[in-house]
Amino acid sequence: MAEKETRQFKTEVQQLLHLIIHSLYSNQEIFIRELISNASDAIDKARFKEQTEPDLFADDNDYHIRLAVDKEAKTFTITDNGIGMTFDEVNDNIGTIAQSGTAAFMEALEKSKNETGLSPELIGQFGVGFYSAFIVADKVRLDTRAPGQEKGVRWESDGQGEYTLEEIDMEKRGTRITLFLKDPEEGDQDFTEEYIIRNIVKKHSDFVTYPIIMNVETSEPIPENEIIKDKDGKPIGETYRTVRKDETLNSMKAIWAKSRDDVTEDEHKEFYKHISHNWDDPFEIIHKKFEGVTEYDVLMYLPSKAPFDMFRPERKHGMQLYCKRVFIMDDCKELLPEYLGFVQGVVDAPDLNLNVSREILQEDRLVRNIRKNLVKQIFSVLEGMEDEKYIEFYEEFGQALKAGIPTDFDNKERLASLLRYKTTKSGDKYVTLDQYIENMKEDQKEIYYITGENLASLVNSPLLEALKAKDYEVLLMVDPIDEWVTQSLPEYKEKKLKSAEKGDLDLEKVDDEKKNEYSSLLSFLKGKLESKVKDVVVSNRLKDSVSCLTGDEWAMSAYMEKILKASGQ
Ligand code: ADP
Ligand code: MG
Repeated sequence: MAEKETRQFKTEVQQLLHLIIHSLYSNQEIFIRELISNASDAIDKARFKEQTEPDLFADDNDYHIRLAVDKEAKTFTITDNGIGMTFDEVNDNIGTIAQSGTAAFMEALEKSKNETGLSPELIGQFGVGFYSAFIVADKVRLDTRAPGQEKGVRWESDGQGEYTLEEIDMEKRGTRITLFLKDPEEGDQDFTEEYIIRNIVKKHSDFVTYPIIMNVETSEPIPENEIIKDKDGKPIGETYRTVRKDETLNSMKAIWAKSRDDVTEDEHKEFYKHISHNWDDPFEIIHKKFEGVTEYDVLMYLPSKAPFDMFRPERKHGMQLYCKRVFIMDDCKELLPEYLGFVQGVVDAPDLNLNVSREILQEDRLVRNIRKNLVKQIFSVLEGMEDEKYIEFYEEFGQALKAGIPTDFDNKERLASLLRYKTTKSGDKYVTLDQYIENMKEDQKEIYYITGENLASLVNSPLLEALKAKDYEVLLMVDPIDEWVTQSLPEYKEKKLKSAEKGDLDLEKVDDEKKNEYSSLLSFLKGKLESKVKDVVVSNRLKDSVSCLTGDEWAMSAYMEKILKASGQ
């Protein structure tokens, strides 16, 4: 490509830009964090790739991020020597909505329409970080060169629907983003002021693991021999002078490696936001040093809100792996099972080989050991939580825990004890399976449950009449994923889980005499309903209603059939 070409933003990007600019206006400074976070991600990627292709990076592997402001030109520039982007990557990553997918974005957009607008938390989940530049800039220029590429690419846009792409000469690998700043309105911060930038970096990006450097004006003492003095040796002129100097703005401290008491709540909040790309505060912090045969540091956060795309397979996992404070990889699926992928955090394992690949990780004994311990740690934190707090967590992440039951065989029982359900007797309260068992009637042998779409219809289901008559409690399961739970949890603490909706409930056997009495009626009904039902039987299940539909003992529940139909199976 030689010519400069103009392209259109996708429609959803235009909508998104509009939303960002308007809804985040009161939170302007976050663009700095977003751009720094992208630069830091880009350096992570470069370092990862450098391990297998060192030659590509040999010319420039003193990794850092540089900020610069120009008061005259009214620009803010951020440069990194990270992975850069090829032409196609620029086109794919900038100008569309990164990662999360258009569909999900539009969904959330639709949902938020009735509310006050797209909330910052929500925007944070879409990977729209780069576009935050347009909150403060009326033109953004991105120059970038990927390793091994001869030429660089320039992307430029005023955020109004179009962007241009052209090939450029670029001396170094990496990315340079220039923001042509809007004139600040009354009360706005001036982002060409060095001290303002310095404060913002300190506040939001202090723990970024690469130096964030800015050439700043500072005053330094004039060396003794250069000071002009009078005959008594007293200085006549200034003893300090103003100079420009490179300064590293962030402390780069690895907070996971500090001892627990040395990390403040605010540091956790900022760090959590940094690694999770979330905007809200963490719900629970798990910070621990494991000591034993091998030692490693663990810092995990349980988020406050379930991400909208929790179950999307393309969703990144929240764990990052470090070795002696050197980043190895993010999205480290080997550190936690799939269903705990919402947990955000860091593991720093000094005994790990720095050159591990994902393939090796899966087989690594140490990693498997760490994984086991992390899961245990999360469980014991959840088990130790006060009821009210746990329910708050459960309402967001209960589905994730349930997803563990069919998949995490080793921890099935422990996961099951973390389940909570409302029941025919509990009203608004949740009960545990243990509480259920404790409350079982003397003659009751099994744990009864019923699945369906909503509590109201379940409570009044005629299928429950017989059980209610016996004063048995029934678990009300209204989550589609409960179907998988019940299928993979045939029993809990030696009590069978039994669907109130399937087969003969076995409460009292219907005697043969009664069966004979009704045989002609039954065969008549069977004939009439041949194409619709499998069988018509006499049952003790009902007390007030005349008839009801049930499933075979081994058949799918009605709700499950519905779910499968809806998902096209
Ligand atoms: P996210 O960081 O959540 O992916 P962003 O909108 O912040 O979303 O960035 C979009 C994408 O643009 C990134 O995923 C990355 O591929 C690319 N990108 C942004 N900034 C840089 C950079 N400094 N160097 C390399 N790639 C970048
Ligand atoms: Mg980003």
